[in-house]
Amino acid sequence: MEEIKIQRTEHPAPKPDPNTLGFGRIFSDHMFLLNYDKGQGWHDPRIVPYGPFALDPSAMVFHYAQEVFEGLKAYRRPDGGVQLFRPADNARRMIDSCERLCIPPVPEETFVEAVKTLVSVDADWVPDAPGTSLYIRPFVIATDPNLGVHASHSYLFCIITGPVGAYYAEGINPVKIYVESEDVRAVRGGTGYTKCGGNYAASIRAGERAEEQGYAQVLWLDGVHRKYIEEVGSMNVMFKVDGKIITPALTGSVLPGITRRSCLELLRDWGYEVEERLITAQELFDAAQAGKLEEAWGTGTAAVISPIGEMGWEDKHVVVNGGVIGPVTQKLYDTLTGIQWGTVADPHDWVVRL
Ligand SMILES: *Cc1c(COP(=O)(O)O)cnc(C)c1O
Repeated sequence: MEEIKIQRTEHPAPKPDPNTLGFGRIFSDHMFLLNYDKGQGWHDPRIVPYGPFALDPSAMVFHYAQEVFEGLKAYRRPDGGVQLFRPADNARRMIDSCERLCIPPVPEETFVEAVKTLVSVDADWVPDAPGTSLYIRPFVIATDPNLGVHASHSYLFCIITGPVGAYYAEGINPVKIYVESEDVRAVRGGTGYTKCGGNYAASIRAGERAEEQGYAQVLWLDGVHRKYIEEVGSMNVMFKVDGKIITPALTGSVLPGITRRSCLELLRDWGYEVEERLITAQELFDAAQAGKLEEAWGTGTAAVISPIGEMGWEDKHVVVNGGVIGPVTQKLYDTLTGIQWGTVADPHDWVVRL
């Protein structure tokens, strides 16, 4: 990549109160931009003050959702330094997403260098209150002013960041999830394994319905048989059944989460038997009935680990581990967050210091 030009803001914003951060509402002073034009490739890497950009109303992204994104975080270490968690994995996943959506891939080194440089420029936006972090949102949009349905010839790669609050400000409370039997998130052959905005647009209705019924998240079933468990909300999902850890296999409609991969590596380190395979909702509810569903949790960058305390499926209802977080769920949470915030050893070299 060419050298990144840096234009610093003349009006730095005041830093927010770390106790009222929430998620995704506050943005740091700068953003990274990189353009793509056919024949020219990716060009003009630059960091500029955060702000709106002008796009033609006919820009393809608005009509046909040719868009991909990523999500990762920067963490403040106890010694004051800043570090990232497996950023090259996000870069590689975005390449896979780009390929599926016919977007020219952003090279891995370009992605990682852009993230590192942007976070360095806004390093004082990485909060240091317990459990807080700097959320990083890279995304690529198709910008051709053209309503014809084909791949765009021009794109914009942008990265924005913003401080986010402790996910569990009031302690880790297990969530209630609802098995969705009508809407589906993804099908094999579609875009389920990519991080693209279209997947989210299709998922909103089920999420709203679950919320109306008092559930926090949707447990997605596969799009063909509506039988096999895929994910929970926008997280991967794992279960401890009769001493064994089971999680849905990456069949093409499941997002290959980096938190999922990290959990599986830790669980194997710790000697657990881990199975990646097809799991029916029936198998799970039968195991619960038989008293063998010991723990259940979701995995994703935002919450890291989200224990599941209750599950509803049509007229059936089960409580997991008495509705409290289980020991394996807690150990995964403590180990992963410890590695991310730099308080626990990092034997797999997952962390990248700035
Ligand atoms: C991002 C995402 C995940 C979690 O991936 P991580 O890399 O662990 O953050 C899981 N499912 C969906 C649908 C996602 O978009």
